[in-house]
Amino acid sequence: MKVGFCGLGQMGTAMARRLLEAGHELAVWNRTPAKAAPLADAGATVAATPAQTAAGAEAVFTMLADPAALNTVMFEEQGLAAGLRPGTALIDSSTIGPDAIRSVATRLGPEATVLDCPVLGSIPQAEQGTLKVFAGGPAEALARFRPVLEALGTVFPFGPLGSGQAMKLVANSTLGGLMTTLGEAVALAQALGLDLHQVFDVLVASPIGVTATGKRSLVESGTYPPNFRLALAVKDLDLIAEAADRAGIELLIGEAARFWYAQALAAGLGDLDYSAVVAAIAGLPASLP
Ligand code: NAP
Repeated sequence: MKVGFCGLGQMGTAMARRLLEAGHELAVWNRTPAKAAPLADAGATVAATPAQTAAGAEAVFTMLADPAALNTVMFEEQGLAAGLRPGTALIDSSTIGPDAIRSVATRLGPEATVLDCPVLGSIPQAEQGTLKVFAGGPAEALARFRPVLEALGTVFPFGPLGSGQAMKLVANSTLGGLMTTLGEAVALAQALGLDLHQVFDVLVASPIGVTATGKRSLVESGTYPPNFRLALAVKDLDLIAEAADRAGIELLIGEAARFWYAQALAAGLGDLDYSAVVAAIAGLPASLP
């Protein structure tokens, strides 16, 4: 299938490569053009504008930082909206929340085919094609593009447009809570004078074991190479708070996690892995490698 791809950050690059490896013909675009070079070497065509990625394509993926980035890429001059024709689907995989994708679809109009397909999993899963793809949108469009999506991972259909984004916010609400809980446990251990290595030996075999095991080496070394940038986790916790507010429910643990993440961002840790919040809470060192 001929496919476009806009947004070659950490996740987008890995996902676009999977599509190429699955045999799709790919036109790619990124705001910072240099990031397209490895994909060009792997056989992708590099487009000069987002609109050009849609030329002759059956679908165009977007994998961008946040709602503002998606709106820019869609609706700026020579944006993707200018290139989409009826029959060329927009498949957005960014984490932007249900409202943002519905508002893009409304702006594109009733002729447009839009699927929201945010993903769970990080760079290793994107590279291996083992993401969880939470899909929302018309069933016939999903059926048409399911084989393409399956190059990225396992597809979980949730219902109408925005429902994939809703599931993604639910999934990420647990990430923020778990990581800040780990941070508070480490802070308590520090305050009580315990040895960090011994503490982790216990935590890895406790109910928070998956989180502690995954991030132990980062906390112990004080270096946080990003798989998922802390600034993006802040964005997700804000999206979760907005969605809960709109639905009229209170998320107290979510608010606590949001408080800690805002502190970590203010401390300058936005480009580190999101687990650097543990260091911010516990007063430990944190830097890029
Ligand atoms: P990233 O490495 O920071 O990449 C962000 C992408 O958005 C880059 O292509 C960047 O372009 C582009 N961008 C940002 N602002 C823009 C703007 N104003 N105009 C045009 N392009 C803009 O982020 P990522 O880790 O790939 O994540 C992408 C999305 O997937 C985010 O919504 C994130 O929350 C979600 N996600 C991430 C993970 C993960 O583990 N990393 C997992 C699941 C979902 P430049 O290259 O020019 O900066």
